[in-house]
Amino acid sequence: MAALESVISEVHASALEQLARASTLEAVEAVRVDALGRKGKLAEISKSFARLSPEERAGAGKLLNCAKQDLEAKIDAKKASLEHGALDARLDSEWIDLTAPAPGPRPGSLHPVTQVQRELEQVFISMGFAVLDGPEVETEYYNFDALNIPADHPARDMQDTFWLKDGRLLRTHTSPVQVRGLETLGPPLKMIAPGRAFRNEEVDPSHEHTFYQLEGMMVDHDVSVAHLIYFMKTLLSAIFKRDVTVRLRPGFFPFVEPGFELDIQCLICNGAGCPVCKQSGWVELLPCGLVHPSVLRAGGADPEQWNGFAFGLGLTRLAMMRYGIDDIRLMMSGDLRFLRQF
Ligand SMILES: [Zn+2]
Repeated sequence: MAALESVISEVHASALEQLARASTLEAVEAVRVDALGRKGKLAEISKSFARLSPEERAGAGKLLNCAKQDLEAKIDAKKASLEHGALDARLDSEWIDLTAPAPGPRPGSLHPVTQVQRELEQVFISMGFAVLDGPEVETEYYNFDALNIPADHPARDMQDTFWLKDGRLLRTHTSPVQVRGLETLGPPLKMIAPGRAFRNEEVDPSHEHTFYQLEGMMVDHDVSVAHLIYFMKTLLSAIFKRDVTVRLRPGFFPFVEPGFELDIQCLICNGAGCPVCKQSGWVELLPCGLVHPSVLRAGGADPEQWNGFAFGLGLTRLAMMRYGIDDIRLMMSGDLRFLRQF
């Protein structure tokens, strides 16, 4: 009988020792299962009670119950303290100082294309031009037909187009605003239309699927190529604030007659040749010319009474020339390391 009581005391003492060493909730639970579980050490001991006399059983049973209660209480206390400790550790690690000053807004800047666009708008507004807007999702009529580019015209092949399922398209140039402007405001009209245009291009350092243009048109009585050259010169000196070398070549665009291609000498390589100018030293900047009679007619202006000039300026390309950017893909990249420089 004394032997059984000493076994109980031993199990009790060893469980207390293991409990003292346990540093996690899992370890504490293991101690509990080992001593107090249904198949634990104390349960095993109570099986041998059958052999004892009633008096002996009462004494051993009392001791066993004391040991159980003591262990249960101490295990619960240890679990509570470990749980509390885990919460304290979390509160410590997730503590934030609500009184610390906020980092504040980061100063932003306008995209280089936006900067060039706004400057040009000011130049043209000062010369009496209206600034118009047009839809980026355009009808086939305004993008092609009204601009003297019928369905079978080879010029349509020069512009690889994003078509929508409903037959509309992402405009391939800002030129549709010429006809829309004439329809809305009528002649005489001096207007520019800056905005986005889209083409299904193979993307490389000088081609993007999305780019910015600035369309310009003046319709009045007796407008000539001399007017065109005057406004183009004013435009370029305002943009570059320096002497630029230009050349005018005959160019074919269905919506002008005669048509010209205005090139500027590459400002990145100064004519020596680089990827942006495709090693030619020249960059096509401005298709321009006198408005085709069919376009005037489409806009509701009688070509017997009215004529005009029009030009389409590559705003994205112009911004690249102005800031010496040698890869058009940077413009659409959204890369803050690039954008923060402007
Ligand atoms: Zn170049």
